[in-house]
Amino acid sequence: MITIAIDGPGSSGKGTVAREVARRLGFSYVDTGAMYRGVALAARRRGIDWADASAVARLASALQFDFGWDGKLLRVFLDGSDVTTAIRTSSIGAGASVVSRHPEVRAALLQQQCELARAGGTVMDGRDIGTVVAPDAAVKVYLDASLEERARRRHAELVAKGESTTLAAVAEALAERDRRDTEREVAPLRRADDARYLDCTSLEPAEVVELVVGWAKAAIGASPA
Ligand code: C5P
Repeated sequence: MITIAIDGPGSSGKGTVAREVARRLGFSYVDTGAMYRGVALAARRRGIDWADASAVARLASALQFDFGWDGKLLRVFLDGSDVTTAIRTSSIGAGASVVSRHPEVRAALLQQQCELARAGGTVMDGRDIGTVVAPDAAVKVYLDASLEERARRRHAELVAKGESTTLAAVAEALAERDRRDTEREVAPLRRADDARYLDCTSLEPAEVVELVVGWAKAAIGASPA
């Protein structure tokens, strides 16, 4: 069974698209961003400094991640407890981009990501799926959108969840996260040479899903049984 890799910057719509593609194809879905967010949350809860690479890496390698569908919602469990909502705050998003810079933390999560993907029939989304986690993925997509559009989407999500913030603050935080993700030394955010590039600034998620499902079906048809 094939693996589908979806990468791109924050709030480009990767998660929405990846979840729906997985549902349509009956594939499992691995949200690698949720894993980095989970590490940031667990570190904060234990009083571990996000900058302390070795302590955060030790923590990351001991954490157990599980994903489960609840209707159309994907629930994320950390050591058995439901952290679906707790990992989605802007502060934990910023923490995720700090802990994800440490090579030791990436190595710890990479091992778990490869295990989760091993079963095949998987959609994975993140920053380095097509380049590092699943370089042999049959379908690779890089989803992009303008900073303004991504900030608008993220701001709407945060306001709906009751976080009080401004569009300008959200845009600034996203730009800072993009900078950290693209400039880090290990597994920076970049489009794999063989990834299809989709700018979805003015595309609806459903249109992107149709495109990716079409590519996936073509790849499934072409792959040895
Ligand atoms: O995609 P999401 O916003 O949930 O990711 C949170 C952070 O986790 C990103 O800003 C990035 O720093 C990190 N991340 C990563 N590699 C991945 C997925 C996420 O470094 N494969």
